[in-house]
Amino acid sequence: MSSLSWQRAVIKVGSALIAPDGKGCSSQYLLPIAQFICNSRAQGKEVILVSSGSVAAGRNKIAFKHHPSIAEKQAMAAIGQTHMMANWARLFDFDCAQILLTADDLHNRTRYVNIKNTLRELLRNGALPIVNENDTVAINELKVGDNDNLAAYTALVARADTLIICSDIDGLYNADPRQNPQAKFIPTVHEIDKQIHDLAGGAGTSVGTGGMRTKIQAAEKCAKSGIQTLIVNGRNPDVFKQLGQGKQAGTLFVPSKNRDSARTQWLRHTLRSKGTLVIDDGAEQALMRKGASLLPSGITSVLGAFKAGEAVDIRYKDQIIAKGLTLYSNSELIQIKGLRSDKITELLGYSSGEVIIHRDDMVLL
Ligand code: GLU
Repeated sequence: MSSLSWQRAVIKVGSALIAPDGKGCSSQYLLPIAQFICNSRAQGKEVILVSSGSVAAGRNKIAFKHHPSIAEKQAMAAIGQTHMMANWARLFDFDCAQILLTADDLHNRTRYVNIKNTLRELLRNGALPIVNENDTVAINELKVGDNDNLAAYTALVARADTLIICSDIDGLYNADPRQNPQAKFIPTVHEIDKQIHDLAGGAGTSVGTGGMRTKIQAAEKCAKSGIQTLIVNGRNPDVFKQLGQGKQAGTLFVPSKNRDSARTQWLRHTLRSKGTLVIDDGAEQALMRKGASLLPSGITSVLGAFKAGEAVDIRYKDQIIAKGLTLYSNSELIQIKGLRSDKITELLGYSSGEVIIHRDDMVLL
């Protein structure tokens, strides 16, 4: 069995482990995980938990007919979140710190940096940060949507080196082991290509949101940023014994060699684009081959509504080739697209800079 080393891990625990029957919290599966967290901390390692289960834990507290409405689910989350936190807190003799995030918090650079600083401060003071999506305020469009991807974002923002996703399945198989007894286990994945994505079907359990698909997405985000991901069976206590002995368990997704800078990671994975700038041949050449910034002259059309400072996609023909922070809004760009930079002031009466997207604020995709 291969060895596994890590210093700062995000451990994601899904609803199927927190509230196994989808009704209330249970510590049935949490004790070995809590033990592993305590032992790891005693060895000087740092742990951040991403815990689902607020909706599942509050489910039997709110009356609903067949399917709960959004407001009913949010009410369940409001009650269930306190139960979920209390359920963890009683397993530890150090402080648990609740962090509730929405996708918006991660897209906003200032809030992103605040989250990063808060996590660092909590770890420095020996608390255990426990992160969940802020289900009571986030509506669907503003949600990360599943805690696998939320855990990947947390690993990125916390600069963790490892993400451990505790699921109710041993890891990745070449077919669904619940349906196909011949399915073969895959212990290590070196590259997350189309074939690996194709192996992941839909959502796995009735209580959680994610399935293998969102776990692979999370592993991919992490791999690109130099973070290793493990998908392990959180119901199997041996997994945590193995991990505690520094051995690999479940499926390991090996990270790529090149680690993006923190800012590039944020631009690439976390920030959501609000619009699209379509560019011409010359601008494509300049961006892709010369490492240049995007000038107004290369923009042929402006799609969507966005403000200065927001992220936009850069499209050439049918492909999104880059993404970056625009210095001008869509209405300003509609006026200055296709023009030379020295015409900006003439047209707008002011200038926010000669380039539309500076190279430092751009990632090629
Ligand atoms: N944030 C949701 C909850 O705590 C869980 C989402 C998920 O299962 O991925 O209930």
